[in-house]
Amino acid sequence: MLHSLQALDRAHHLHPFTDFKALGEEGSRVIERAEGVYIYDAEGNRILDGMAGLWCVNLGYGREELVEAATEQMRQLPFYNTFFKTTHPPVVKLAAKLCSLAPANLNHVFFTGSGSEANDTVLRMVRRYWVVKGKPEKQWVIGRENGYHGSTVAGLSLGGMAPMHDQGGPRVPGITHVRQPYWFGEGRVGEERQDPEAFGRQCAAAIEERILELGEDKVAAFIAEPVQGAGGAIIPPESYWPAVKAVLAKYDILLVVDEVICGFGRLGEWFGSVHYDLAPDLMPIAKGLSSGYLPIGGVLVGDRIADTLIEEGGEFFHGFTYSGHPVCAAVALRNLEIMEAEGVVERVRDELGPYLARRWATLTDHPLVGEARSLGLMAALELIDPASGERFDEALTAGNLCRDISFRRGLVMRSVGDTMIISPPLVISHEQIDDLVSLAREALDETARCLAPRVAD
Ligand code: PMP
Repeated sequence: MLHSLQALDRAHHLHPFTDFKALGEEGSRVIERAEGVYIYDAEGNRILDGMAGLWCVNLGYGREELVEAATEQMRQLPFYNTFFKTTHPPVVKLAAKLCSLAPANLNHVFFTGSGSEANDTVLRMVRRYWVVKGKPEKQWVIGRENGYHGSTVAGLSLGGMAPMHDQGGPRVPGITHVRQPYWFGEGRVGEERQDPEAFGRQCAAAIEERILELGEDKVAAFIAEPVQGAGGAIIPPESYWPAVKAVLAKYDILLVVDEVICGFGRLGEWFGSVHYDLAPDLMPIAKGLSSGYLPIGGVLVGDRIADTLIEEGGEFFHGFTYSGHPVCAAVALRNLEIMEAEGVVERVRDELGPYLARRWATLTDHPLVGEARSLGLMAALELIDPASGERFDEALTAGNLCRDISFRRGLVMRSVGDTMIISPPLVISHEQIDDLVSLAREALDETARCLAPRVAD
């Protein structure tokens, strides 16, 4: 059974972000079921899901209430669109609930099917807003190198992932990227490590420099994740966000904060924007909105933009068949209600986040670890070659090796280059955090043993 599934997978299924040939040779791992914070593969292995699916299963697996919400809504109204002057109860209730949780200046939602579609919507709204405002020359959007905003053409253009950009074809014009606030990776001058706060201010200053290069009247918006997720769980220095806010205010540039990963409790607040005290003009969301049980995304729209588009914009020619899908909306609403009732977000902020931070920091004594950092329930380890104290030779693909070892030993940890990442379900217990950290240490030990002879070569 397992082998026939793998053979069919190889024969017919093209996986996302995958080297098709390499996976075909190796064979994919079949995941059959899941419960709580664990996934189970077809060989019966139990694996602690340190990535909450793909940064999304915030409430963990096996929540019957979400299954019931979907079933009830499927019976009641499995689909209806919201294009032609119609609406339905789940989408209205979800929109109101989201606005009650978001920063005070965000009081409208546009729904999408995914995070990428949310960022396509962002680009269209930003550009439309300035046209309606009578400033059509304000069209440039500034993103960041190594930022991630999705895989559609607009998503990848807003993002700053060089390997995606390099795969051919023109991107959406009018989008430029500035340096990222990645202190461990880029906060050095020559051999010297910079002061992190000075580095954070420099990264914010890079935005101002770009604005002046482009012309301050030509820049529409700046887009960024509160903490970069796919780029490597990159937590900016404390100085970064206040300095960014000041620059954008100075030149009247919209702030788009991509909450697709950081939203819904990941950093210990409902949104990363709350943690960093941002009042974004637009906030794309997805993933944890439904704990990943069904696909749904959206954009929370600030009053300034909503008022303009409502009062002066006329018809906005944009939308998706599944904008505000009733079943997805019903599941998302129940998900948020459960998170509120169980105090999930507060628990991440007050208990689990600080506990993970303490336990995760114990890994800094490992010879392979150059830095261990965390915020809320997102954490990263920077792998280094103990012999040099520098990164391993890229050809050794140390991060991927560690990821594969970790998976085999029972922990899903993701690698981005030689940065190891975790982002577990928000319902993880203290004991499960202990297990996670022990498994991570074992994976590091085995990685070190595997790499030692190769480094010596
Ligand atoms: N923005 C961010 C910050 C993301 O992390 C992701 C997905 N990892 C996206 C957008 C795109 O979301 P989706 O995969 O649902 O299109």
